[in-house]
Amino acid sequence: MTASRNRVALWVAGAAVALLAAAALRFGPAMPPRPNAPPAGPPGAWSAEDTLGKGESLAAVLGRGGLGGDDQTAAIRAAKTIDPRKIPAGMQVRFSGDSTNGADPRPMDIALLFSADLTLHLVRDGNVWSSREERTPWLTDTLVMHGVVHSNLYDAVNAGSGDLATKKARAELAWAIADIFEYRIDMSRELQDGDAVRAVFERSRSPAGIEKIGAILAAGLERSGAEIQAIRFAPRGEPKADYYDQDGRSLRAQFLRAPLSFRRISSVFGMREHPILGEWRSHKGTDYAAATGTPVRSIGNGVVLFAATRGGYGNSIDVRHPNGFVTRYGHLKAFASGVRTGSRVSMGQTIGYVGMTGLATGPHLHFEVLVGGVQRDPRTALKSNAGPPLVAREMAAFDRARHDAVNELDRAAGVVRAPAVPSH
Ligand SMILES: [Zn+2]
Repeated sequence: MTASRNRVALWVAGAAVALLAAAALRFGPAMPPRPNAPPAGPPGAWSAEDTLGKGESLAAVLGRGGLGGDDQTAAIRAAKTIDPRKIPAGMQVRFSGDSTNGADPRPMDIALLFSADLTLHLVRDGNVWSSREERTPWLTDTLVMHGVVHSNLYDAVNAGSGDLATKKARAELAWAIADIFEYRIDMSRELQDGDAVRAVFERSRSPAGIEKIGAILAAGLERSGAEIQAIRFAPRGEPKADYYDQDGRSLRAQFLRAPLSFRRISSVFGMREHPILGEWRSHKGTDYAAATGTPVRSIGNGVVLFAATRGGYGNSIDVRHPNGFVTRYGHLKAFASGVRTGSRVSMGQTIGYVGMTGLATGPHLHFEVLVGGVQRDPRTALKSNAGPPLVAREMAAFDRARHDAVNELDRAAGVVRAPAVPSH
């Protein structure tokens, strides 16, 4: 029996016990004061509020609300979309009905207030119960963020995103920006104090205050005074929008700039430390500090030349790419399944996991780019890694989109468009 089945079984058993308990307690010892429906009072529409206690079953609350055993069973059965494991303790329950003379005194509508954006109504028609979900929409607005890099991208975005209420949303924004530029910039190594980042992006908020980052409409990354822009644009005939730089060149390219996703290493390092170990000159390679087991990705399409243990490199993989470059990944804890000499790998594919095999004093990835068998600094070797340009007939539309996007990037940080149309 699986864990979830167990829970359902326990819940069903609990519900049965609670049904009996609810019946018994009508005449039993004193309970905490709870509303009972229907309340005494003048005839007409009535409503009463109750709360699901900790460890209490839904049936118990329904019983207090005036439902007999058959009604409880039928109402719970109608609530098909309820996951009994997810009923939050403290959930509010609102009963309403009609106490006009001659009317059925039982509740006609039981509202289960699951969360700020979801209410489930149990509705009675005679003895037949059905359910209906009522969702309060999330609202989406558009914001501008400006940040200056002092230690790393995350800190820059975090400090520049005062309008985002949650730390999680600020991390999501930093990761989304890193993803957009991941073919151009190794965010963990190539940013310097004084570089700047800015973005126009959508943010969705639930009535309960949950925040999510939506589309990044445009972003800019300024390094040593020169900005690379990322403009979201959908060429005609393309199924979806993608990012282009200010010259209309795709921000996708033949190679990723880093063998570890910024998302992975920044979360490991608490988004504070600058994860650099060792130096290129002394070392002929680039070291990425990361937790053991962090996925290592091939930076481009290619064929595995070598996947085995090799001296100080420990478990290592060489991948040959179509342009003749070879990339090398060392100190791996393990190889990803299916990765062996001769296998084809694609850009971004996980080929192994960070470890400390071979000559390594702590878990990290040793990464090399070899050109003609000689190790090259990836910052130089991958520098001309630019994607294809937009076709000429798209340039007029792109220029208009870019003009609008840059106007927005230039605006002061904050909300630049209030929610217009409810989404979600
Ligand atoms: Zn190394």
